[in-house]
Formats: sequence, structure tokens, C-alpha cells
Amino acid sequence: MPDYIDKSVEQQELMLAVQLANAKVKTPRLTPKEACYNCDEPLVHEPGRLFCDKDCADDFEKYPREA
Ligand SMILES: [Zn+2]
Repeated sequence: MPDYIDKSVEQQELMLAVQLANAKVKTPRLTPKEACYNCDEPLVHEPGRLFCDKDCADDFEKYPREA
């Protein structure tokens, strides 16, 4: 196997690690908007929450949206 393939995989993993780190920093700065940041489900009964559940929070961390 040519070693340029190994290098490109390494680089992709590094970029992914950076993206994950960014997501972890961004998430705590969100302010509640009375709707889920991941799926936009209204959170009228729990206006202080950012997400409807842990799955939405995890998805949002994996695929952060630009504001
Ligand atoms: Zn949600």
C-alpha cells in the first residue's frame, strides 16, 4: 500500500479530532431558545433546555451547525 494513503487517513483523523474539540467548546455557550438546537422541536415545557434529549445533544455535538 502506498504510504500517501496512510497520511491522508491520518490527516482526516486529525481534522475530525479538531472538529469534535470545537463542538465541545461551542455547546456550553448556547443559550436556551425554547426549542431543540438539533431538531428545532419546541421545548415549551422546559424552556431552559438546549435539546429534547441526550440523542439530540450528541447529534448536535457530532454535526454542529453554524449559527
Ligand atoms: Zn431534538
